[in-house]
Amino acid sequence: MSYHKKLLEELLISRNGLEVDSIHFVSDEIYHKDEKEKLIAIGKGTFEPIRFSIKGLQYPEGMGTKSSCNMRGANICYRNGLAIVNVILLPYEKFPQTDVNSMLQLCALLHELGHVEDMQKEINFSFLEIPTVRLVEAEVYAHIYTLNHLKRMGAIDARNIVASALYKYKDSANIFEKSLYKEISNSIGRGRIKKWVRS
Ligand SMILES: [Zn+2]
Repeated sequence: MSYHKKLLEELLISRNGLEVDSIHFVSDEIYHKDEKEKLIAIGKGTFEPIRFSIKGLQYPEGMGTKSSCNMRGANICYRNGLAIVNVILLPYEKFPQTDVNSMLQLCALLHELGHVEDMQKEINFSFLEIPTVRLVEAEVYAHIYTLNHLKRMGAIDARNIVASALYKYKDSANIFEKSLYKEISNSIGRGRIKKWVRS
């Protein structure tokens, strides 16, 4: 088993200690459906997805309006009685046996787990009468969570690839991406990101 595949398999079981109801690998067709249809597809159609009203910047056109879909992973939460339940969906990749794909899925899974932690700690998400999310801050949280955990796992190449992807947002004409980069670099330090990109 390849290096990243092994880390992915371990994370699918441990979930970094977070409470996640289930993790599903789905076809692109299901992945692109709306949240209710996704729940139906994974056999949880009796539940209603919690929809968050966005505080601050919205996702730009073409990036999709559904939160956390941009990194090829999705996280849906719903109420079951008093509990708030999280499920994670990851799309099947075309060449599932390659190490690169395992690495991308590892990054996507960590990103979604970052959103789960953020929700469960109610840092950038709130579950009041009208559930809300501070979208830029939530994305920053998930990206930093991913960078930190990749380092902790010893997946330094993956960490540097994620850092490079984020570094491209530096000069983006898109205000959402630019804000994302600014917040991330403020939080972890511009110099560190640059160093990771170069290594
Ligand atoms: Zn996200």
